[in-house]
Formats: sequence, C-alpha cells, structure tokens
Amino acid sequence: MRVLIVEDEPTLGQQLKSTLESNGYAIDLSTDGEDGHFMGATEEYDAVILDLGLPEIDGLTVLDRWRKEDRNFPVLVLTARDSWSDKVAGLDAGADDYLAKPFQTEELIARLRALIRRASGNASSELTAGDVRLDTRSGKVTLGGSPVKLTAQEYKLLSYLMHHKGKVVSRTELIEHIYDQDFDRDSNTIEVFVTRIRKKLGAEVISTVRGLGYSLEDPDS
Ligand code: CA
Repeated sequence: MRVLIVEDEPTLGQQLKSTLESNGYAIDLSTDGEDGHFMGATEEYDAVILDLGLPEIDGLTVLDRWRKEDRNFPVLVLTARDSWSDKVAGLDAGADDYLAKPFQTEELIARLRALIRRASGNASSELTAGDVRLDTRSGKVTLGGSPVKLTAQEYKLLSYLMHHKGKVVSRTELIEHIYDQDFDRDSNTIEVFVTRIRKKLGAEVISTVRGLGYSLEDPDS
C-alpha cells in the first residue's frame, strides 16, 4: 500500500515516513501544500496523511482541490490541536478521518489501516482467500493455519491483491501501489515476486490474466 504524507515539520514527517515504511507501506513525503497537491493529483495512493497547517497552500485547500479533481483516496487529516472547528472544516472538505496533534503513532497506523481497508471494501482487518490469511494488524500471513514467511516486497504485493480480491490488477497498478516514487521501478520484478509467492502459498493463489495482469480469488468462487 502506498501512502502520501504531506507534513511540513521535518522531524515529524521523517519519523512518520520511517515508522510507516517499517510497517510495510511505501511512502512519499511532501513538505508543502503545493508539492503535496501535485503529488496527490498525479500519483496513485491508497491513502493520504495531510497536515492542515502547510506552507504555500494550506491543507484544507489542497484537500478541496483534490476532491474537485475527483481524487478519491481516503484522507486522514492532522489538526494542530484538539480544535473542533479544524475537524469540522476538514471533514467538510472531504477528509475521511482526523487526528489531533500530538498523537500516538500506533493510533495513526490503526486509523490508516482502517481507512485503506474500508476504501477497498473490507470490513475485517483479517483478509482471507481460501486457506490463506493475512492479518493487516500484525502483518502476518498463514497458510492453513501455519505461518508463512514473506519478504517485505512479497507482503506488499500479496496485501494489495488481497485488499482487491476478485479484481484484475495490472502490473502497472501493482508497481504504483507497492513502490514509493524514488524506487527504481522495474516491472519484471513483479513477476519474480508473484512466482515466489506462488511457491510459498500454492500456485493457484494468484492467477495470471493474460495481457491484463493478476487476480487473486477464493478457490471456490
Ligand atoms: Ca504544519
């Protein structure tokens, strides 16, 4: 899952970036409203964390512009303090959730996880496909109850497909959602990851849809 953070406080921004990266997210960090707006308007994100007090263009205006441009990713707004008017304004501008500073990183991660899950139509934090279970809270994957060890990139790919179970996902879409902007993207690596996941979880878990991409489905569907 790929997330954009728009936050002008350098320490907080970097901290969030590295914490979320170690939790399996691909992160782009933007430090002002103008660049942040551009990133959100041109790149593909599964969610955005948006500070309201930003240089160049303020967060509410950024959010309002995205929504007018039909950018529908879930947005978690960070408000400077526990100000009810900031929260109301944020929700009115199209935010999906908010968090007042200072906050616990664990709470931010939990809210982010829920936003991404709901946006893809998943109510439970545990995703399943046949015997495969992926717990989005712990980042653990099991096959028939036994733990399976995946690398960070394998997990990101599997998690994206499981969030979008039953849909055909193109290689380009996968690349856009599992790598951050600075990553040296090579579409051949996607095939390598898929092969490795099939070896670990069974060949039938991910089907190749010729010319279109990949699909993960329940074996009985
Ligand atoms: Ca700020």
